[in-house]
Amino acid sequence: LLYNLVQDLKGTIRVYCRVRPFLPGQSDGQSTVDYIGENGNIMIVNPCKQGKDARRVFNFNKVFSTNVTQQQIYADTQPLIRSVLDGYNVCIFAYGQTGSGKTYTMSGPDLTTEETWGVNYRALHIRNNSQLNGLNVPDASLVPVKCTQDVLEMMKIGQRNRAVGATALNERSSRSHSILTVHVRGKELVSGSILKGCLHLVDLAGSERVDKSEAVGERLKEAQHINRSLSALGDVISALAQKSTHIPYRNSKLTQVLQDSLGGHAKTLMFVHINPEVNAIGETVSTLKFAERVA
Ligand code: ADP
Ligand code: MG
Repeated sequence: LLYNLVQDLKGTIRVYCRVRPFLPGQSDGQSTVDYIGENGNIMIVNPCKQGKDARRVFNFNKVFSTNVTQQQIYADTQPLIRSVLDGYNVCIFAYGQTGSGKTYTMSGPDLTTEETWGVNYRALHIRNNSQLNGLNVPDASLVPVKCTQDVLEMMKIGQRNRAVGATALNERSSRSHSILTVHVRGKELVSGSILKGCLHLVDLAGSERVDKSEAVGERLKEAQHINRSLSALGDVISALAQKSTHIPYRNSKLTQVLQDSLGGHAKTLMFVHINPEVNAIGETVSTLKFAERVA
């Protein structure tokens, strides 16, 4: 009880920042991450700027550097996930530009090795029989699961649906939000009362701005739609963080779908992802500014 109380006092919105390592074959000369402090500080350096304008510090609940393992990320996420069993609704978001590591954090690079499993698979590692309950999203399917294997199968189907109609999976996934919702129902052993909670695991569409000179027609409309829904999400979370009386849920489908799990009896964790390459500096700074606004 005391533990829960302490968690609650700390507020219901947390922001974690994760820096992606340089990938094999990438020039690993210069990183835009200058410094990561112990207390959730990250200093970004813009090589195109001079003097005091070149450096900027942002502060979050936690910052994970490039050498952090999937296991360590999960260790800092699990207490929040566990609160679903106390009847809380929990939303975990992955935000960042395409290629910054959102899917890596949420799902992992490869389902066959448990060591690299992301938050989704670790959270849904089910030991006892369990059943899902009501879900009210059009075109979503509700499937009872009994074991981890059932969940993995469901998630594979979800990934496949996300890729439909596109040759490159990453291109498709970068232009859609993926939401996996798990409903949990438990019985309090002493009182016999029923507790209900739900967990939303959200791999957001890429946050990069559209270049109007490059995107046209449907593609441009889609990109503007994504940008609108991400900024609507930012508006909702920042209104919640400021304990504002009006929370603008109705400005996007994304925030409408998640309305019951954002604010009220709910907890939110936003993972923001940084690509440390110099040519990503513009998106890195806008990602950090977005995150600062919701923190
Ligand atoms: P996004 O979903 O944001 O578009 P991905 O998760 O697909 O980005 O990551 C892009 C590439 O970087 C992938 O090849 C992925 O395996 C790799 N990657 C991302 N984060 C990490 C990490 N923390 N450690 C190692 N490789 C990573
Ligand atoms: Mg992705």
